[in-house]
Amino acid sequence: MEFTGSGLPDVHKYSSWKKFIRITGWMLRFLDKCKTGGKRTGELTVTELENAEMVWCKAVQNEIYPKELKFLKSNKNIAKSSPIYMLSPKLDDKGLIRVSGRLSKSTHLSENTKYPIILPCTHEYTRLLINHVHLKFGHNEMETVANELRQKFWIPRIRVAIRSVWSSCQFCRNRRAKTLVPKMGELPSVRIN
Ligand SMILES: [Zn+2]
Repeated sequence: MEFTGSGLPDVHKYSSWKKFIRITGWMLRFLDKCKTGGKRTGELTVTELENAEMVWCKAVQNEIYPKELKFLKSNKNIAKSSPIYMLSPKLDDKGLIRVSGRLSKSTHLSENTKYPIILPCTHEYTRLLINHVHLKFGHNEMETVANELRQKFWIPRIRVAIRSVWSSCQFCRNRRAKTLVPKMGELPSVRIN
């Protein structure tokens, strides 16, 4: 099935990536039922959830990199002015833009890590995904989140994007506020009267 983002749930309305992917999974199953008479019942399978995730990566790329996609689909080089030019992007067999070159000679890495999917750091979907990994690893601030995401994705300016999620996370804000209290308590007391 080919999706360009239309007919999919609105990413801005969700605060949980997991829930968002599940809803997408159910919608895709429903569409499959309508279009091809699919008869799947019961819980969503791992494959269906992975497919929902890939449909979203594709929709995001369609929205942010339409020119690049057009060039890559017609086997032309993308413009040097493109923000992803330096990543030597290539299309995989599902039509997803991936980084090529960098790690392609490493034999011990998975295909996803060798050719990560390019996701723009500015899109709300990427933000939701980063937030999911941030929560998954106990509100981790940086390295673990970056390493986990790099197993599968290439997010330009990833550290800035992670930092932005961390700084707007309410739990982390409260935690930072708490750790500031003892420091303030160490200040010499000032008499007002
Ligand atoms: Zn947090």
